[in-house]
Amino acid sequence: MESRKCLECFEQLRGRSDQKFCSDQCRSAYNNKQFLESHTVINSINRILKKNYIILSTLNSTGKITTSKNELTQKGYRFDYFTYTNTTRTNKINFYCYDQGFRELENNKITLVKNSPNAPH
Ligand SMILES: [Zn+2]
Repeated sequence: MESRKCLECFEQLRGRSDQKFCSDQCRSAYNNKQFLESHTVINSINRILKKNYIILSTLNSTGKITTSKNELTQKGYRFDYFTYTNTTRTNKINFYCYDQGFRELENNKITLVKNSPNAPH
């Protein structure tokens, strides 16, 4: 017989074959930890997105509509994090961080765009 152990305290299990925990305490301790871990991941990604958002909205609110990828990188922008994309009629991809976004132009230039969630794409 395969020996089964509690996922939380590694105590030997003697109950039903689908039993995973020795007690309700161990079950909730384990689930709480899983929940906190997923929250840590979500929080660290949210921090990156928030920073991206602040960089884009600050540049956009000062009316600076064209900038360069280098300038964004210098400010700490992470190009690998965005919330969604859409494609323009001319087949350019807009990368959004919430309602603030950009699309690439030639020579490492980018143009800033804004899209409210309810606007038609
Ligand atoms: Zn246990």
